[in-house]
Amino acid sequence: MSQNLARKILAAHLVSGSLIPGEEIAISIDQTLTQDATGTLVWLEFEAMGLPRVRVGRAVSYVDHNTLQTDFRNADDHRYLQTVAARYGAYFSRPGNGICHQVHLERFAVPGQTLLGSDSHTPNAGGLGMLAIGAGGLDVAVAMAGGPFYLTMPRVLGVKLIGKLGPWVTARDVILELLRRISVKGGVGKIIEYYGPGVASLTVDERATICNMGAETGATTSLFPSDEQTRAYLEAQGRGEDWKPLTADPDAAYDEVMELDLSALEPLIACPSSPDNVVPVREVEGLPVAQVFVGACVNASYADLMTVATLLRGKTVHPQVSLVIAPGSKQVFTMLARNGALADLIAAGARILEAACGPCVGVGQAPPSDAVSLRTSTRNFKGRSGTPDDQVYLASPATCAAAALTGVITDPRKLGTPVVIEPPARFAVEDNMIVPPAANPEEVQIIRGPNIKPLPPFYPFPERLRGRVLIKVGDNITTDHILPAGAKVLPLRSNIPAIAEHVFGQVDPDFARRAREWGGGFIVGGTNYGQGSSREHAALAPAYLGIRAVVARSFARIHHANLVNMGILPLVFADPADYETIAQGDEWEVTDVYTALRRGDRLVVRDITHGRTFELTYHLTERQIAVLLAGGLLNYIKSGGK
Ligand code: SF4
Repeated sequence: MSQNLARKILAAHLVSGSLIPGEEIAISIDQTLTQDATGTLVWLEFEAMGLPRVRVGRAVSYVDHNTLQTDFRNADDHRYLQTVAARYGAYFSRPGNGICHQVHLERFAVPGQTLLGSDSHTPNAGGLGMLAIGAGGLDVAVAMAGGPFYLTMPRVLGVKLIGKLGPWVTARDVILELLRRISVKGGVGKIIEYYGPGVASLTVDERATICNMGAETGATTSLFPSDEQTRAYLEAQGRGEDWKPLTADPDAAYDEVMELDLSALEPLIACPSSPDNVVPVREVEGLPVAQVFVGACVNASYADLMTVATLLRGKTVHPQVSLVIAPGSKQVFTMLARNGALADLIAAGARILEAACGPCVGVGQAPPSDAVSLRTSTRNFKGRSGTPDDQVYLASPATCAAAALTGVITDPRKLGTPVVIEPPARFAVEDNMIVPPAANPEEVQIIRGPNIKPLPPFYPFPERLRGRVLIKVGDNITTDHILPAGAKVLPLRSNIPAIAEHVFGQVDPDFARRAREWGGGFIVGGTNYGQGSSREHAALAPAYLGIRAVVARSFARIHHANLVNMGILPLVFADPADYETIAQGDEWEVTDVYTALRRGDRLVVRDITHGRTFELTYHLTERQIAVLLAGGLLNYIKSGGK
């Protein structure tokens, strides 16, 4: 039977289940990726499994999110991550080497293989024909231990690309167009696979940009074929031997199909405060801009920054604009330094940061109050920049450069002759900042500073839940809302008791105190609860505060899995209208939880406050129910579960 590429790769890695959309499958994982903000917890979880070495083909541990080191805590995390990687057999990408997704694309991604990463933008490697999925940390820890990854078989959305990008139109505009069409929920339960005659004209870096921000649609992952562009990229990285051709069969079927004409696109921009709030740049032209940030894993490649440097050469950044640049990797940084482009950027007035996530995750360069920040980063969720009332717009490097020069949002087509950057025949390949696993691991001492706290205990799920509604939130609540990132909170990622104080910190600063006083309780959410980052802290910290159930209209994929892994029951209103009738402080009781879950029956909530009952459903596999009843995935695995 003719197959699309996603199904071919899934079939080659299938461990259990069948490739029927909606059914649970398990796939083997070839590579794993962790970063510092989620990685300390992943490694603590891996250690708790008691294995002597990782059992995955290749595990890579990156430090890229929090490199600010305002005190010992951050530095403690880095040292722990370096020593634990050496001890257990992972490669360690040192701070300064770059953002995990950019470096992984450059140095490790392999067409046709599977990658599981504890970061939601792991699909970046789909630009190289790799099936790359973002997941919660515990799922990644299990993959590092050699276990399969369980997921619900997604539908495959085939996006047929035709035409060619016009002048000043970029890969960023392609993914913004997709977000405009399908929204931050439109990819849920799907793999987005690109095919058609328009594919060949896109470079691997452009494809990676499109796959990276596919995460914003809620998709499981995004995928491009492996073709001559892929071969050229891998050869320029000195990895030609990793190339193999991969494509969908000519008449392959997709569960859904969409056509996207690249030549019909124009420069687009995502307005505050959601990546799918997309309009043509020309519609918001003239808006004064206070800050421009060019960086992040999605648009800080060599070609991206060369575009900006070329546009800025011999000019000066507008006096009202702070232009901040963070290269995606040391490789990119080195090439800019060697060819003079870095000097062009500095001379024009750009403020250069190290190759790391930085402003994208709220670590430094918070924008001013009541002012526009235009960024090439992935997300513009309210407050993620570090400024509570921020107005963050997202656009391509060319659109950002135009605003940096004019001081206002400007359609880059007004800049004249378009800049065309050819992919280099050879990238600056120097892996001197990637530390291989230790040759004598038994001699490695794992260094745990005082900021590395042990994991809290997990308890089996109770038969009866009784408690109050601690908070009721609206639609599209992100993991940034549930547990913020930023320079203040990120250093606490390996200290769950401390980070738990920040749960819902930006939404309701009183939440943690109330949860402690009320002895836990229920969280109530709207649709797409938990979208955005993969951080499992957004499940683990609430679990630590005593929350055993979240009731919402619907959940984002990774957060739903994280809740289960942490022993929190994700429940859905049987009648969505019930959401409207609930208020913070309502007291609920749910009995016979075990019996109902084992039978697949609905759970009945007794609303003690209002003297009524209503029903809840759930989308849980048999295995997930077993995980929940055990009190989470770690308990389940320790008790012999697979
Ligand atoms: Fe880092 Fe931002 Fe990319 Fe996340 S989205 S990996 S914070 S650059």
